[in-house]
Amino acid sequence: MSNEQIPKTARAVVFDECNGAIRVDKDHKVAQPSELKAGEALVKVEFTGVCHTDLHAWKGDWPIPPKCPLVGGHEGAGRIVAIGEGSDTQFKVGSKVGIKWLADSCLNCEACLGGQEATCSNAKLSGYTVDGSFQQYAVSYLKHLTPIPDGVDMEVAAPILCAGVTVWKAIKQSNTRPGDFVVISGAGGGLGHLAVQYATAMGLRVVGIDTGDDKRKLLASYGADTFIDFKEHSGKGKLIDEVKRVCGGEGPHAAVITSAGAAAYNEALEYLRPHGTLVAVGLPPNATINADVFFTVFKALRIVGSYVGNRQDAIEALDFAVRGKVKPQLEILDLDDINSVYERMEKGGVAGRIVLKC
Ligand code: NAD
Ligand code: ZN
Repeated sequence: MSNEQIPKTARAVVFDECNGAIRVDKDHKVAQPSELKAGEALVKVEFTGVCHTDLHAWKGDWPIPPKCPLVGGHEGAGRIVAIGEGSDTQFKVGSKVGIKWLADSCLNCEACLGGQEATCSNAKLSGYTVDGSFQQYAVSYLKHLTPIPDGVDMEVAAPILCAGVTVWKAIKQSNTRPGDFVVISGAGGGLGHLAVQYATAMGLRVVGIDTGDDKRKLLASYGADTFIDFKEHSGKGKLIDEVKRVCGGEGPHAAVITSAGAAAYNEALEYLRPHGTLVAVGLPPNATINADVFFTVFKALRIVGSYVGNRQDAIEALDFAVRGKVKPQLEILDLDDINSVYERMEKGGVAGRIVLKC
């Protein structure tokens, strides 16, 4: 099923091996409507966010490497231009849809039936185990596409599809109530700046940790209660003392770690107040959480891993954007700019999210 002319080739960002050259292939093959299987759609991607996960994928620095060659990307916002024959779906040609990290799962196993689709043993991951959204036309699985509601621009929807849904879920898992203190570590980055806004919308008192004036200003514009520049508190125990001080002397009720560096995890275990929750989100390679058993028990701490969100979490996360409660800070560039975007991201030089026009 298709109403429009589908080109035979289009632009895509491809690498053949981790750490190898990243090229913008202007003649990447586009799947034709007749080639789509039941359950598949061809999505014309309009905008795609660049998540730090895409950088990890290219560097191959996680324990499970991505498929190669790979078209990365998993924050795609676009429209369906063709649907595989025999598909049973709510979507139509023309529907606005989002491509997120979880490209597909079985929907029948214990994890899927319990709403924990990301941990399905048959999960397929956009821009990791299957080609993702760094291209003009992407083949996607209909059952995991997210409907993009009216009232949210495509470039705004894009970063919500990974960064937004991930931090929304993480805050829901933080065991906090309105008025509680929450630390967002990595607060000026793609995930972090959205976490600050979701947490504020939830009535939490937010302390953002990151570095640099751009990020400080960005967070102040969201009404975050306090910004702590980690580079200004680098001596032993200094950051921990400062976090405790700004959180009523006892430390925060929760810490959501969205930083891609390892140090933030172990600091959090020291500054959390008793019964506090550490929500692990950022995925630094080769990192370990060193939880002292005695103090974990003595302070009754909780350590929770939080991995993206399910289909309903994605719908909820977008709804905050529709209502204007969450506004991603966007810098809009082009697919061609991917190399320089990765260089900046590696250095921590992106405040908010970079979204690429496809
Ligand atoms: P980003 O590069 O946009 O942001 C990371 C931020 O962390 C930067 O602003 C950087 O300055 C800051 N930072 C670095 N070291 C810090 C420290 N010691 N203390 C405080 N802040 C520090 O990255 P992103 O796209 O927001 O992704 C962040 C991480 O989250 C990545 O590892 C990514 O793979 C991971 N991630 C996890 C999930 C999940 O489901 N758990 C989903 C998406 C992304
Ligand atoms: Zn992501």
